[in-house]
Order: sequence, then C-alpha cells, then structure tokens
Amino acid sequence: MAELEGFEFGKSDFVLLDEVTMEQFLDNLKMRFEKGRIYTYIGEVVVSVNPYRQMDIYGKDAIDAYRGRELYENPPHLYAVADAAYKAMKRRAKDTCIVISGESGAGKTEASKYIMQYIAAITNPSQRLEVESVKNVLLKSNCVLEAFGNAKTNRNDNSSRFGKYMDINFNFNGDPTGGHINNYLLEKSRVVQQQEGERNFHSFYQASSDDRCCHKAVMSALKVIGFTEAEINSIYKILSTILHLVSYSSSALTVGGALEQERQIFLSEGDAVQHIAELTSTEPESVNKALLYRTVATGGGEVIEKGHSEQEASYGRDAFAKALYERLFGWIVGRINSVIEVKDYNPALHGKNTVIGVLDIYGFEIFDNNSFEQFCINYCNEKLQQLFIELILKQEQAEYNREGITWQHIDYFNNQIIVDLVEQPHKGIISILDDACLTAGKVTDTVCLDSMNQKLGQHAHYTSRKLCPTDKTMEFNRHFRIRHYAGDVTYSVESFLDKNKDPLFQDFKRLMFNSLDPVLTEMWPDGKLSITEVTKRPLTAATLFKNSIIALVDKLACKEPYYVRCVKPNEVKSPMLFDEARCRHQVAYLGLLENVRVRRAGFAYRQPYERFLQRYKMTCEYTWPNHLMSSDREAVEAIVVQHGFEGDVAYGLTKLFVRTPRSLFTLEQERAALI
Ligand code: ADP
Ligand code: MG
Repeated sequence: MAELEGFEFGKSDFVLLDEVTMEQFLDNLKMRFEKGRIYTYIGEVVVSVNPYRQMDIYGKDAIDAYRGRELYENPPHLYAVADAAYKAMKRRAKDTCIVISGESGAGKTEASKYIMQYIAAITNPSQRLEVESVKNVLLKSNCVLEAFGNAKTNRNDNSSRFGKYMDINFNFNGDPTGGHINNYLLEKSRVVQQQEGERNFHSFYQASSDDRCCHKAVMSALKVIGFTEAEINSIYKILSTILHLVSYSSSALTVGGALEQERQIFLSEGDAVQHIAELTSTEPESVNKALLYRTVATGGGEVIEKGHSEQEASYGRDAFAKALYERLFGWIVGRINSVIEVKDYNPALHGKNTVIGVLDIYGFEIFDNNSFEQFCINYCNEKLQQLFIELILKQEQAEYNREGITWQHIDYFNNQIIVDLVEQPHKGIISILDDACLTAGKVTDTVCLDSMNQKLGQHAHYTSRKLCPTDKTMEFNRHFRIRHYAGDVTYSVESFLDKNKDPLFQDFKRLMFNSLDPVLTEMWPDGKLSITEVTKRPLTAATLFKNSIIALVDKLACKEPYYVRCVKPNEVKSPMLFDEARCRHQVAYLGLLENVRVRRAGFAYRQPYERFLQRYKMTCEYTWPNHLMSSDREAVEAIVVQHGFEGDVAYGLTKLFVRTPRSLFTLEQERAALI
C-alpha cells in the first residue's frame, strides 16, 4: 500500500474502500485518473488506467525511487511490481511472472515495455558486454514483433494481434542471460481481410511506402538480433508474395468464363504468378498448378489432379496467404528465440537459473458479433482467471502460514465448471467441434450446433439460443451462449468449423518445401510428405490453442505471480474522459471487485511492525516520540490497544494484520490531524 500519499488523490489501495461496491470502486478509480494517478493497488495487484498522454513518471528519477524498495514505500507504480518480482527472483531465487491483462487498447503492451525497460535499467550495473547484448536483443525483439504482429485497428492504432509470453532468464548475479518468447493465436485472417478503418499488419506498409522510418528501425532491430541479409531478404520476399496473392490473383481468379479458359488466362496473363514464382524461388508452372488444382489420392491408391472450382481456388489462395504469414511470424519468433536462448548454462557452476515471465495477452472480448476467435480468447481468459483466483488465494495462504496466522476459508466463485464446458475431453465444446471436423462429408456449422445443443443443453453455463423464448428470429438458430465468469457472451457459430479445421491444400505445402529458398523450406517441413504419405490429420485450431494455453498455465502456475490489470478509460483515446459505463464493464469482467473481496476476506491490510510504528507512533502517548518497550511488536500492540481495535487485528511473526480498513481510517485521520 502506498503510504507516502494521503487520501487527497483517492485511495491508493482499493482494499481501503469503505465498502466494496462497484460505485465506490469506480469513484476511486475516476478520482485517481482525473488527478493523474493512473496506478492503484489491490494488495499487490496493480490496476492501471490508460492515461492516453505522456506521463512524466517513467524516467531515471522514477527508476531510482523504486529500485530495491518495498511496495508500500512509494506511490503505486508498475516499477514497484517489476521490482517486487525482481527482488523475489534475486533474493529468494523464486521464478516469478507478471501477468498483464485487459482489453484491446487498455495499455498492456506499453506496460510490458515499461516493465522490461525497468528490468533492463536496474540490471548489469557493471555493464558487462555479453549481458548488455542480451538486454539489447530482448528490447529490440519488441520492435520486430510489433512490426509483424501489430496492426492499426479501430480500438488501438498499435494493436497486438497475438498473445505474447516472454521468459527472461537471470544468472545468480541477477543479470539477464537470455530469454524465450511464446506467441499465441496470431490473427492471420487480417492478412486477407480487414474491417473498415483498419489496416493489415504494420510490416506490409513498412516495406512499401507509408512507414519508412519504422522500416529503418525494424531493419536495424533485425540486424542487431542477428538475422542475416539473406534471411531479411527472404522475409521481405514473402511479404511481397502475400501482397501479390491477395491483390492480383483475386481478380484473375474471378473473371467470368469457362474455368479451363480461366486457368489459361491466369497462366498467360498472370504477372502475379510470375512474380510469386520469382519471389518464392519456385517455378511459375508449379505456382499456377498449386493455385488451380489439387492432388488427391483416390481410394485405389491412384494419384490424380483435380481442378478447383472458382470458389475453391479463391478459398485456397486466401488460406495460402494466411498460412504464409502465420509461418513467417512463427519463424521470426523461433529465430529470435534461437538467438536469446540461454546457452552453456551450468547450474553447478553458475547457481540456479531463475526466470521472470511477462505475459501480455488479449483480455476478455464481448463484441456485437462474437465468433471463433472470441471463443478462443474468452476460453483463455477463463483459464487465466482460474489461475488468478487460485494463485491469489494460495499467496494469501502462504503469507498467513509464514506469519503464523490461522487460515480461514474464503468463499469465491470457482469457474472450473466453465473451463470444463469448453475443454473437457469427449464432452466439451472443443471436443464436439473437433468431432464435427473429423466427420467425413458435409457437417455444417448448424449441424454441429445441434449436436452441441443436444449434449450441453442442460449445462448451467450453456444456452442454446433456440430455447430462449425472447429470441424468436431464425438468426438465433445459429447462436449459442456461454455464461462466462465475466458475463454472458452470445457466439455466432458461422464459420466455426472452417476456422477450426483451418484447411490448407497439401499442394501449397509441397510447393513451399520444394522452394530453392532455404528459409521457405525451413518454414514448411510438412511439405516434405507426398500426397500418399499424408495420413494424419493435423490438429485443429481450437485443440492447438487449447494445448498451448494449458502449457502456458502450467508454466505460470509454478511461478510467483504479479498482476497488472489494465483499464481503458474511454473509446476515443482521450486523456480527459472517464467513461463510467465502459469502466464499470471492465472492472466487472476483470473480476476486480472479487479480487478486493478476496484480499479483504481475511485481512485487508498488513504491514511490518517497524513500518506501522513509524507511521502511527505519533498517535499514541506510549510510543511518541520513542517507545521503551522491548520490541516494535509490543509498541504496535500499545497503539492498537489505545485505539481500541484489538478485536480487529492479528499479530504475525513480522507483521501486523488488520481485518477491516475502518481501523486504519481512524489512525489515518488522527495522524492527519496531528501533522
Ligand atoms: P493494448 O496492448 O492493451 O492493446 P497498448 O499498450 O498498445 O494497448 O496501448 C494503446 C495506446 O495507449 C498506446 O499506443 C499509447 O498511445 C497509449 N498508452 C498506453 N499506455 C500508456 C502509458 N502508460 N502512457 C502513455 N500512453 C499510453
Ligand atoms: Mg497490445
């Protein structure tokens, strides 16, 4: 709890609210936002409100003020949490992680960058060259990932279109020795289609005209990280290939006339084909063929070529463009990892290798139209929410144990039931989707929905929209609703199956694998198989995502967690406007009130005896100016007794625990009257 401030900026910790109500929470958040206090604690959790203006709170002075200090010694700040995570890692050899969540535009990515900058600033005081170089690569990787993974959307001009988890490794000195990045669910559909007012990924513009200066920064970052000239060339050739695919071929593929004739036109007039072949180091005939035919193995083991219909051809082309970009992005991340991976670390020699993880991942999404992507993202948030509650409770319990205080049960909503609804083998939504994708023949989205309704209709958190008496329109035959911990979300089942199956004709994979460009070959190892060898179906998108999120949660669960919860104050990027309805919504689905309740359920407030004494000794005749008791703990007892709240506290080994914030107000008021 930040104590250097009085209450004139509102309460610096939400546990100090008189009552835990939405109204009080919002009042406090608003007051602090308006007074330029964008950070507020809930215990050790930082709630951050995007200021939408440059704040003078991240400079060297601030870094010095927070370095090595305890949370309660300074006003709430990201730096305090970064420092807490760092201290836990360095002093107690704990692996820690900082989980940053919130909706698009709430300030997650900016927060993750400030945290990394802080860690970079406080480490390697002796400026050892190899450590500096690791830090440099870690920081530069942000620039590259943003170029390829971010885009301008209607919500955020620099919106991350992927989830990111980055581990930073430290040696026994507490200096960074390397790291590892995991990326989640890149929004590859953006490559072929963007909503009105939105753009494709930044990288496409940087290579051509608009963003020349960013382009320079990205090029230099790529070089610093260690990408070779040839690799950088390949990257930009792939970007051009994609542009050719999405811009030229659509017209070539949709001209009227007989299909056979079209194929001819496409080949003869198709500059695009020529360009694509050059850019990908393949033969024009092969490119043309992959775009217009597919190879299929017949039941008798015979291999034939089958011409695409117009629709299939254009579908295949889009799938190819998306896959090219997705693999490019994955390859870039892998390449960065190969550079920052910790090498030659010998624990016997160097001590324990510890880790700080930073997670910057999409928050809960409720749009007007929610599809497969929102389904995945919201499932991910259910998993993280579960971890959050579990870990916060665990942390509280651990602290009580350490301090020798009796643990009392805390009642909270366990969202396991919703997680199960989505991920349970054989019964959950993902499993039903996968079954539908595996079924031969034409299972449509609506048929799949029927099956879901049938199997899950009785589930307390699932509603088949057909059964909603108020929704009479036919439209709702295509919807289902999940009661998430954060609220109800209605999903449209349209394209669920296709997005889950995410098919790509094997011909494209083979084409790329057989390219003379080694980078492409490396990106498409599965193109090695000939059509008769391809037997295993690739895992579906939902299952791949589920597996990666389960692995992520496992990774986070064994670390000591720190949380940053980001709130977006308004939709118009204004530094002045606190849109109450929007904030209310976010406070609700981030589960912040629940968080305050958990924190207050046991003891709202705790502080080392010495600190407590220092602050309140003036309010008690036995302790002012100095006490004559045998320990600080006894002196604190004297203060507590003098104010008559013995029933409201517990004495831990090193800290005083106060159950309700009311006692503290009394003290604060008295203190304020005296100074
Ligand atoms: P998210 O990653 O949650 O989608 P970003 O971190 O990209 O959101 O933030 C969106 C925009 O908001 C940034 O580009 C920046 O203009 C502004 N912003 C966010 N955090 C801050 C901050 N701490 N100080 C100043 N501006 C900020
Ligand atoms: Mg972001």
